[in-house]
Amino acid sequence: MYKRVLLKISGEALAAGKGFGIDAVFIHKVAEEIAAVHALGCEIGIVVGGGNFFRGVAQQAIDMDRVAADHMGMLSTVINSIALQDAIEKRGLYCRVMSAIEMHQVAEPYIRRRAMRHLEKGRIVIFAAGTGNPFFSTDTAASLRAMEIKAEILLKATSVDGIYTADPKLDPTATKLETLTYMDILRLNLRVMDQTAVSLCKDNNMPMMVFSMREQGNIVRVVSGEKLGSLVTA
Ligand code: UDP
Repeated sequence: MYKRVLLKISGEALAAGKGFGIDAVFIHKVAEEIAAVHALGCEIGIVVGGGNFFRGVAQQAIDMDRVAADHMGMLSTVINSIALQDAIEKRGLYCRVMSAIEMHQVAEPYIRRRAMRHLEKGRIVIFAAGTGNPFFSTDTAASLRAMEIKAEILLKATSVDGIYTADPKLDPTATKLETLTYMDILRLNLRVMDQTAVSLCKDNNMPMMVFSMREQGNIVRVVSGEKLGSLVTA
């Protein structure tokens, strides 16, 4: 069983198929699973995306400056983080949101040493506002935080049950890859996460499990060491 993990949840997942906003039922299901993982004694850091509200690159189509659009994207991750914190706290757990962009009234600033202390004390930490820099993604933020907090593994919860050779929704010949390396992702140009995030994990030996969070209980299964989805190693 893993003792410390970094869980990445995309913003889109929180919209639960609706494409926009936060699904009230789903976010509570996620919180319930996180509570179950916590009950196992596992320390949990979480990075939430913001694609259910705003994506920087998508806004360039409406002639918006990329930096301004990315700032909006990062703020949308804060909205998701606060919603998830609330749902987790409803289960009686302690949860802190730490933001890479300072906003003292809303969240603690991200200070690595303080984050470690929260984790050691059994508090769940949600890392908001991505890396705090434009031109990055929350996948990169998740890789970065996973390394900073010395997580044993990066858990990437998605809507697909692993990594496929092609998009299974478009290509019927696509096959699932149970184990692969970061080099395979780059070589086969697999759309798992952006290259910056892949390089960070590859160069720093951070393993990643990509699995579906559609089925209730999957996060607990993965943390317990069950082999679900696809395992990527350096
Ligand atoms: N973003 C950013 N820097 C970061 C992380 C995120 O500028 O370090 C912005 C970027 O515009 C991105 C948006 O925040 O499109 C939402 O994050 P992401 O697209 O990674 O969310 P997800 O796809 O996981 O929902």
